[in-house]
Parts: sequence; C-alpha cells; structure tokens
Amino acid sequence: MDKIKILLSEKDIPRRWYNVKVDLPFSVPAPIDPVTKEPVRIDKGKSVFCGSLLEQEESLERWIAIPEPVIKALSIWRPTPLRRAVYLEKVLKTKCRIYYKDESVASAGSFKQNTAVAQAYYNKKEGITCLTTETGAGQWGSALSFACNLFGLKCRVYMVRLSYELKPFRRTLMRLWGAEVIPSPSKRTVYGRKILKKTPNTTGSIGISASEAVEDAFVHKNTKYAAASLFDYVNLHQTVIGLETKKQLKLIGEKPDYLIGCVGGGSNFAGLVFPFLRDRLKGSNMRMIAVEPASCPSLTKGAYIYDFADAGKFSSLQKMYTLGHSFVPPPVHTTGLRYHGCSPLISLLYNKKIIEARAYHQIEVLTAGVLFAKAERILPAPETTHAIKAAIDIAKSTKKSKCIVINFSGHGFFDLAAYEKFLDKKLKNYAYPIAEVKRAIKELLQLQP
Ligand SMILES: *Cc1c(COP(=O)(O)O)cnc(C)c1O
Repeated sequence: MDKIKILLSEKDIPRRWYNVKVDLPFSVPAPIDPVTKEPVRIDKGKSVFCGSLLEQEESLERWIAIPEPVIKALSIWRPTPLRRAVYLEKVLKTKCRIYYKDESVASAGSFKQNTAVAQAYYNKKEGITCLTTETGAGQWGSALSFACNLFGLKCRVYMVRLSYELKPFRRTLMRLWGAEVIPSPSKRTVYGRKILKKTPNTTGSIGISASEAVEDAFVHKNTKYAAASLFDYVNLHQTVIGLETKKQLKLIGEKPDYLIGCVGGGSNFAGLVFPFLRDRLKGSNMRMIAVEPASCPSLTKGAYIYDFADAGKFSSLQKMYTLGHSFVPPPVHTTGLRYHGCSPLISLLYNKKIIEARAYHQIEVLTAGVLFAKAERILPAPETTHAIKAAIDIAKSTKKSKCIVINFSGHGFFDLAAYEKFLDKKLKNYAYPIAEVKRAIKELLQLQP
C-alpha cells in the first residue's frame, strides 16, 4: 500500500537554514535609498529591524546554523507531515501523485510560525522588549503572538480593518497569547490618522498596516518591527519546509516534477522551493509554480521595477514585481495574499524564467478548496486553495504520471465565514483595477535610479 503520511522524527528538524542567494548564477538587485538613489547603507542602531536579522539579510554563507532555542521552539510542531492526497487523486482519476507538505499543524495554523520563533528569539537576545507588526488574514499576527508569548516579548499587531471585521476569532487568538490587536488604519500613528482623514471608510491594506507598525517601532523604545514575508531572512527561515520535504520525498524514492505554492509576499513558496533550486539550476526540468489571486496579480500583471514595500513609503526601494505601493486590493477572502508586491528574490527568479506564475479568481480557488476538503477531509486556508487549484489543473491536464508537491500553507478553521459565503453562493470575483494600477506604475517611473 502507498504511504499516505510520510513522517520524520524530531532529530530530522533541520539544523541549518539554506541561503539560496549563494547559489544563484546572477546577482540580486540591491535595495535603494529613495532619496539618494544609492544602495542603502543600514544604520543598525537606528533601524526598526533587529541587527542579527539584518546580518542574515546580507549573509553570503550557504548554510546558517539555527540556534538551539529556535530548534527547541520549532520542535513544538515540527517536523511536519508530508501527506499524499490519495483520496483527491482518486476523485480526479489522475495518474499523478499529489503530495502536500502540511504546515497547518503549527499551533497557530500556518507555516508563518517558522520565522516568527526565529525573529522573536533574535530580538529577545538583543534586549528588545516589544515587537510590532501588521497582519492581513491574521495568520502572521497569531504566529508572532505565539512566538512573543514563548520568548517573553510584548506584541502589538496592526490588523487590516477588513480582516479585523471578517475574522474576529483570529483577533481572539492573538489576544489570548498576550498581543494587543489594533484595527488599521488606526488613530495610533501619524500615518494612520492621515489615511483615515483622506479615506475614512477604507478597508485597509497590508501596505498601510505595515507603515503603521513600522512607525510604532520607530517611535517607541526597545521596540522593533517584525516582518511576515518579503525579506530574504524570512525566506531563509522558511527553508525548513523544503529541507524536510526533500528528506521525506527521498525516503519514498520520489522526485518532484512540480512544486507549487501560493504567493503573497512569497515566503511559503520560497520555503518549499529554494532547497530544490540547486537541482533546478543544474538543469533538472522540475517546474516551480507560484500562484496568486487574479484580484492582486503582482507577478502576472505587475511591473518589475523599484517600489516601496509599504504604502507609507517608510521602506527602502526594492526591485520587485509590483502593482504600486498605493494599490488597495479588492476585498477578497484570500486576505493573506492581498499584497501589492512580491519578494525581490522570487521576483528575480520569475524575471529569469526559472519559476512560473499563474493567477486565479476566488470562486475557482474555493471550488478547488471544497473539492480538496471533501476528498482529503482537511480544510485548507483560502490562500492555500490557490496552490491546490493549480495542482488540480495540472493533474487534470496530463495523462502521464507526474509527481506534484504542494505547500499546504495553513488550515481554514478561522476562514469558515468565507466558506459559508461560498456555499451560499454569495461570493463574487473581483478584477484588479487596471487603470489604477497603470497610473500607480507610471508614478513609480520617477522613483527609479
Ligand atoms: C501568509 C500566508 C500566505 C502567504 O504568504 P507568503 O509570504 O506569500 O508565503 C499563504 N498561506 C497562508 C496560510 C498564510 O498565512
């Protein structure tokens, strides 16, 4: 009988993170200072980021040791199972083998805890007492609340207003672990007050909440900002996903033909695929597919250009696929993917055609999610259903027996309102506002070095 669950033991938790940059045959465009248009020189003392993490961002070591307390924290829920979707395969009548790396077993329900515990650890070690952050869907906020609780830090979470209202139980989980949760835009920050004055009824965006969290960290003592995604060090911390997956596939003699992940900032996709990139760069024809919402299609419809990471323009300029930092995505339920840009590393790989991208609308991805939930009896997060939809499409489009691996980024227990609307046929699809994006990208031309 085929195994349906490939498990590792605690000693198989990776001891080192993999730094993909070292193995790329091209250089990654440096972040640029928006004023001088020169590569940024970070003053670690003044930065809202933790010093050790900034060092990791620039590291040219291929392997970076994971500190013992972080491994101990990871062992609360890692290693995660690699599951074979045998029931889904049967429903699809496919010859393909479909596997999913189940990151939903994390205490807060998603892969985001992998970097949350690392960031909390390094900040604590440097004497920081409070972390601020933004959260879209609430998964990152919950993961960071969990990690701050574990390492004894305070946590302030600026939650995109749309999610604050749609997902009250995520709020509760964060508060339960000791975090303060603030609907954003808020009156707490200069930037939030400015946005509220201009657009009092805004549903908010991850970009706006990020600006508030950064401002909060900047003005408060012993307070730093924690990033959910986008940064190279976040991608680095997430490589535990791909490293484990590689081991698990090897145990059963499998080699993936397809690696698939959904993409917001890009860190869960990066976590799965980066450890396989070395093989891909050596000429294997493994395909790596990033899947995004059609309502917020940064890779498939954005421009590859320097842009700010946040709406308030506090960040440096990053070269990435972007819809413009002022882009406020339509109010879709896949809130974790409502981000205007994408990780510079992933953007570069896409630009060099090493990875591929696809975009889907929310009704088709939730249809795929429900099919998956009925077959596998595991409920995916709406974000995760993007990857599932792509896997199903691939399996249906081939008569061959391919090995497909999905990053199952999180569970959907806090997203039942979205599923309820779907079942009641009350969901609609949203196109992204083409004219608005064109204008935003045109404005960006003036920022270019
Ligand atoms: C945050 C999140 C994502 C998207 O984030 P990335 O940075 O693109 O990985 C996807 N799935 C879930 C469940 C999430 O919580």
